[in-house]
Amino acid sequence: MTKQEATCPCGSGNTFASCCQPSITNDSANSAEQLMRSRYTAFVLGDAAYILKTWHPDTRPHDFQLGKSRWLGLTIHHADTDTVSFSAAFHAGNKGMLLKETSRFVCMDNHWRYIDGDCTVTPIKRNDACFCGSNIKYKNCCVKRASNE
Ligand SMILES: [Zn+2]
Ligand SMILES: [Zn+2]
Repeated sequence: MTKQEATCPCGSGNTFASCCQPSITNDSANSAEQLMRSRYTAFVLGDAAYILKTWHPDTRPHDFQLGKSRWLGLTIHHADTDTVSFSAAFHAGNKGMLLKETSRFVCMDNHWRYIDGDCTVTPIKRNDACFCGSNIKYKNCCVKRASNE
């Protein structure tokens, strides 16, 4: 299976080719939610150029590097015209962590841009309901994904 045919990393359930790929290739995300999804996918794929390009020039960091975190999953909780609330799970060091953020976006000249967000990062506890939405405890669910890859 090629990357194009694979399920999109953002968890939409669609193929990469019909989900985040066009946004990333053409800078054509057509909503705040789609931009959020495609930026998450760019984090997964290590595409720092797209992350920077879609960052509002006023808030874009001068020096940006992708960390070594391995991204495990994205859950969108709520999306408005220009804000998106989400959780993203990642594995850093030997720990599962959960980033919760409400991000702000703006559409500039027909391109959606990320402005900034309010976020918290907390360790995922083993008895927490898994971030993937399975309703199974993390220790019986994606913890395996986090440690096996
Ligand atoms: Zn996607
Ligand atoms: Zn899970």
